Amino acid sequence: MIVALVSGCCGTGRTTVAANLALVLKDRFPVTLLDCDVEQSNTVLLPINWQEKVAVKINAPKISFTNCSKCFNCVKNCRFGVFIQFKNSIVILPERCANCGICSSFCVDHAISLEPYTLGYIHKGDYHGLTVVEARIDNSAVKATSLIKRIRSYIDPYGLNIIDCAPDISDYDSCSIICPDFILIVTGDSRQERKWLAKAVDHSRKVNRPFGVLLNMASNNSSFIEEYCQEEDIPYLGSLPYDEELASGLIDNYQLFNHSTTWQERFEQLWEYILDLASQ
Ligand code: SF4
Ligand code: SF4
Repeated sequence: MIVALVSGCCGTGRTTVAANLALVLKDRFPVTLLDCDVEQSNTVLLPINWQEKVAVKINAPKISFTNCSKCFNCVKNCRFGVFIQFKNSIVILPERCANCGICSSFCVDHAISLEPYTLGYIHKGDYHGLTVVEARIDNSAVKATSLIKRIRSYIDPYGLNIIDCAPDISDYDSCSIICPDFILIVTGDSRQERKWLAKAVDHSRKVNRPFGVLLNMASNNSSFIEEYCQEEDIPYLGSLPYDEELASGLIDNYQLFNHSTTWQERFEQLWEYILDLASQ
């Protein structure tokens, strides 16, 4: 089973919810926590015993500028927008390359070669029986949807897979390619978060997967989100309260479930809701 956690923006506590749900369930059945937030992987908050590191590479064009006569045929003929002309120079966005080879066939000066380019790395490790997989973008890469797609091969077909998606909608799109059995939209109730919630709901409907909304770090006057869900006929999975100690870093490794039985029960209840909705 695959449960993807998404949110429209940063700061909703999505990763904390993903990690705690995984930690609460890991002793019942095999659980894999997959961190797809490639630009800001933070499952590293847990002291994970990393065992594997695999570089994710593609072939991408490289220009020998000593041979290049600036005909800009490559710019005109690459339909993936890998080459950007900037005045009299060319900027290459290698992560967009689809390896079709057309650019080199149009390069009269034979100045283009396709060479290995590292998009990032996939790390795999273990934390007390919980399998953790993390995709991390390389510093030099701009954006790496292919890196997120590559993480699919780490999904355990016989266990529960909890995917911590990147916070913005475009990355959420690529995570939805993973085709989750359930999408958990984690939201806060700030003005910005409310705006993004509507977009996340829109996207979840488009990919046609069961989904529900969890309000995280709820304050006393957080009824807006529940009302919105009722009006829009969206399953509302309840709320997790704002925790002063968590916010001030007093809870070790963000392990809320370890903090009190109340927190453990909250995550168990959340899992029951997810199971219910996913099986409808
Ligand atoms: S097609 Fe070849 S020669 Fe023309 S601009 Fe591109 S790299 Fe340079
Ligand atoms: S190989 Fe194809 S996709 Fe890649 S840069 Fe060349 S033309 Fe563009």
